[in-house]
Amino acid sequence: MAFESLDLHPSLLPLLKENNYSSPTPIQLEAIPAILSQRDVLGIAKTGSGKTASFVLPILTLLQRLPKKEKNREIDVLVLVPTRELAVQVGDVFNAFGKVLPNPIKTMSVYGGVSINPQMKTMFGTNVLVATPGRLLDLISHNALELSKVRALILDEADKMLNLGFQDEMNEIFNLLPEIRQNLLFSATLSKDLESIKNVLLDEPLIVKIESEANDIQSINLSGYFVTEDRKGPLLRYLIKKNEMDRVLVFTSSAQKADRVAAKLTKNGIDAFPIHGKKSQGARQSALEAFKTGKIKVLVATDLLSRGIDIEGLPFVINYELPRSPKDFIHRVGRTGRAGENGLAISFVDKEEIKHFKVILKKMKRYVEMVESDEFDLSGY
Ligand code: AMP
Repeated sequence: MAFESLDLHPSLLPLLKENNYSSPTPIQLEAIPAILSQRDVLGIAKTGSGKTASFVLPILTLLQRLPKKEKNREIDVLVLVPTRELAVQVGDVFNAFGKVLPNPIKTMSVYGGVSINPQMKTMFGTNVLVATPGRLLDLISHNALELSKVRALILDEADKMLNLGFQDEMNEIFNLLPEIRQNLLFSATLSKDLESIKNVLLDEPLIVKIESEANDIQSINLSGYFVTEDRKGPLLRYLIKKNEMDRVLVFTSSAQKADRVAAKLTKNGIDAFPIHGKKSQGARQSALEAFKTGKIKVLVATDLLSRGIDIEGLPFVINYELPRSPKDFIHRVGRTGRAGENGLAISFVDKEEIKHFKVILKKMKRYVEMVESDEFDLSGY
C-alpha cells in the first residue's frame, strides 16, 4: 500500500517523497487510518519503526480538517515525552511536515533546563505542544496555556510516562484535560504498568504491536568482555582504537561516571562528550548534535539517552556499566542496528556481575560467549 491511499492531506505527499519515505512502515500502515478515524491507539513499536510519523502525519491531517483556529492559548494536541531531547526530536518532525500545509500549524517543544520566559512569550497560537511534564505544569501555573480544549493526547514512550516517576505530574495533567479526547499511546516496550493503565486511559483502542524490541534486537550482535573496574577505561580506548570505531555510544550508570569516562577518552586523543541530566540543556543539545553530525566520535551517556533517540547509522553501543533492568538494556542496545543496519552492542562485565548479565540475556533469549580481557595488553591505552 502506498502513502497516496492513506487519506493524508495531499500537501504532505510530495514532502514524503522528498524525505525518501517511499512506502508506509508497518506501524504507519495500521496507525494512520485508525488515528484519522479518531480512534484511540496503543502502538507498540520501537524507535526506528517510523512511529513518530505514524502519529504526526494523521494528526496534522486532522488539524487541517478543522476550521481555522482563533489565536489563543488553547492547545489542540498535547504530546508528552520523558526527555528534553525527545521533545526537540518530535517537535522537529511536526515542524518539518507542518510547514507545507495550507493552514499553518504551530508546534512548540517545551522542556525544563532552559528559561521559561521565551516559552511563555511564544506560546500564543500554538496548535501542537510537545512537552515534558514538569515544564508543562510550570507553564500552566504561569497561565501560559490551556489544556481544556485538547483534542488529542499523545504519550510517546508511554510506559515511561506512566510509571511511578511521572505519576504525580501525569495525574495533575490528566485532571486538566477534557474527558472526551483521542488518546494515542506509543511505546517500545509493553510493561505491566502500561497493560493496566491502557484499560483506564484508552477507549476501545486499536492495538498495533509491531515486533517487540526484544525480538527486533535479535539482529544486533551482542558481545561481552570480562573486565575489572580498573581496566574498563583502557579496554574501552583499546577497542575504539583497534576497531577504528568512529561512532560509539557508551552507557554508564551515573552522571559522574559519564563525565569521567568522557574526560579520560578526550585526554587520550579520542573526541568524546558526556551527556546526562546534570548537564545544562545547551550542553546536552550541542553534544547530541555534534555526535549526530559526526563532529565527535564518542558520546558517553546515562540512560537519559537510551529512550527514543534516533541516531542514524550508529554501529556501536558499549555498556561500560550494565543497566539495572533488562528493559533498559533493550532500549540502550536498540540505539544501534536501526532500520536493518548492522549493529554491535558490547557489554563490560565484572566477574561479580555475570549472574545479572545472564538474567538480562535470558530475557533477550540470547547467549553471549564471554571474552576474557585479562590477557589483553592494555599498556599505552
Ligand atoms: P522513529 O521510529 O519515529 O524514530 O523514526 C525513525 C526514522 O525513520 C526517522 O529518521 C524517520 O525519518 C524515518 N522514517 C519514518 N517513516 C519512514 C518511512 N515510511 N520511510 C522511510 N523512512 C521513514
